[in-house]
Amino acid sequence: MSAVASERTISTLCPMSCHPTLCGMRVTVAGERLVRVEGDPDNPDSRGFLCLRGRAAPEIIGNPAGVIESLALDYAETRRALILVGGSSMHKGANGRQAPRAIARLPALTGKVGIPGGGLGPRHGASAHGLALSSILPEQGNACRAVVPNQMPAMLEAFEAGRIEVPLLSGTDMLSSFADRGRLEPALARVDLIVCHDLFANDAIRACADVELPGTAWLEQLGCKMTHTHVYLMDEALPTSRETGTLSRILPGLAERTGLEGFFPWADDAGLIDAVIDHPSTGHVSVAALRAEGGWRAMTVSHQAHPDNPFSTPSGKVEFYSERAVALGLPGVPVYEPVPTAGGAPALPPALPPEAHPEPLPRILRPRPGLAHPAPARAVDGAGRCGARYT
Ligand code: SF4
Repeated sequence: MSAVASERTISTLCPMSCHPTLCGMRVTVAGERLVRVEGDPDNPDSRGFLCLRGRAAPEIIGNPAGVIESLALDYAETRRALILVGGSSMHKGANGRQAPRAIARLPALTGKVGIPGGGLGPRHGASAHGLALSSILPEQGNACRAVVPNQMPAMLEAFEAGRIEVPLLSGTDMLSSFADRGRLEPALARVDLIVCHDLFANDAIRACADVELPGTAWLEQLGCKMTHTHVYLMDEALPTSRETGTLSRILPGLAERTGLEGFFPWADDAGLIDAVIDHPSTGHVSVAALRAEGGWRAMTVSHQAHPDNPFSTPSGKVEFYSERAVALGLPGVPVYEPVPTAGGAPALPPALPPEAHPEPLPRILRPRPGLAHPAPARAVDGAGRCGARYT
């Protein structure tokens, strides 16, 4: 008779990747078996909430092979069948890349590529068959001497090793969205100066920020949105509130003070957006043209994926075997990889008290001797608020 594994409960995050929500999840396991998932009441942001999708997370794993085979057969036998691969964070796990690699082969194996209503559906952040925007990155490439990949483990290691001295955290609550808050919080405590820019005083600002810069809401700034069918203008509808500022105000100011030339070569945000949306897939649209046309324009992109089947593979055809993967030291085809046994569970510290954003002023939260003020010669009032101005 086999021994019954004892249950243990791990505090983690919902794997569905709807950033910045990332609700806290309590997962109870017995050995390698999932027993249940619940909302984590100690998560300072979600406070026990899990939506339907999060509560359905157990259905992702542990499915018998027969269920998966039956779904694949249903897909194969349905002419207009589309697979929407969701939850990108699920694929960042130890062996997570294998499932999407296997799933991505199914449309080609079953003749669904290049037909209306077939293939793979659009995934956020993904572009397909001609949909693109213009790059504003410098042509000479990245001149940085040290680069930290934008992946949680790499950033965490860089913080712990003291390789990041003055991070500017814009629109992110790292203490909520990083899986291992127990390691991140002490690592951030060792950073020289943390500047946060956000609409609300989030958890990371309350716990770690030295300087808080209030951000704008979408209605307070010019912007643009693109879907797979249209490009939309998001015109400024409200004046900015008090001292709030967009990144396009903060970053050029920083570049100027640090002597970085050519960082923001446009006269204003409209110039920046024009440079990005000036592309064949938008019909070379501009902010002025979108305003004149009522705020939106249809993309010049086929609604049907790969209608004439050219692919961005080395051969230009569907490739089941990936030479690129092999060059990266990965198997050429998806294979089964056992999940590494989990180590210790990261623990969340106790919840912090809720606190509304007091008022939209830049604030020095923790003046430190010897640190240069981001806006020198400004007074700090009795409440610790700084009279700094975005310049
Ligand atoms: S519980 Fe729902 S809202 Fe929260 S992260 Fe998961 S999918 Fe998103």
